[in-house]
Amino acid sequence: MARVVSWYERTGDGEAVACVECPWAGVGGDLVGMVIGDLLERSCPRCDAHLEFALFPDADDIREAAALGNAEAAAALALVEQREVRRALPVASRPDQLPELPAEASDLLHVVHDLACDLAPMIVVRNGPTELWREPAFWEDLEGAERLLAVLWERYGEVIEGIVVAPAVKQWWIGDDLSARRLLDLAIAKPER
Ligand SMILES: [Zn+2]
Repeated sequence: MARVVSWYERTGDGEAVACVECPWAGVGGDLVGMVIGDLLERSCPRCDAHLEFALFPDADDIREAAALGNAEAAAALALVEQREVRRALPVASRPDQLPELPAEASDLLHVVHDLACDLAPMIVVRNGPTELWREPAFWEDLEGAERLLAVLWERYGEVIEGIVVAPAVKQWWIGDDLSARRLLDLAIAKPER
């Protein structure tokens, strides 16, 4: 029978393991892994017998394992905490959060990434050289893109003719969900009045 283990109790890549169904023996790194929902199924590379199911950790599991000195968890914890900090930053959801346009406004808005930190880009909205807004960017976040673009159109649509979204930002918003591309283009286009 396959055993179910927490993520940090799974057989290590260098740890000895033997199949219970056939004579195969090797190390954890030789097992064939397949992600099924919130767990990793690890099977014998010879006979496909399921040997172990490792549950992916949630934030609490990561915190707990890190506190016990697990190095993998400690590294993951840094990312979890960075994400929590970013989740807490404000995003634009109402037009009154956004400032007036500058006196000599351009009729285009530019949406670009601030890549000061590659792991955690910020989205920056500019009119000419003036920065109007910045908020955290999240991977594969069509919903966030539609929210931000709608509020930009609502706030500046009287004056602005177009919103130019940098390809890198589009890529970030679309992620691996290619079906999102068309919906994103719709959200970028000036709404008909
Ligand atoms: Zn086997």
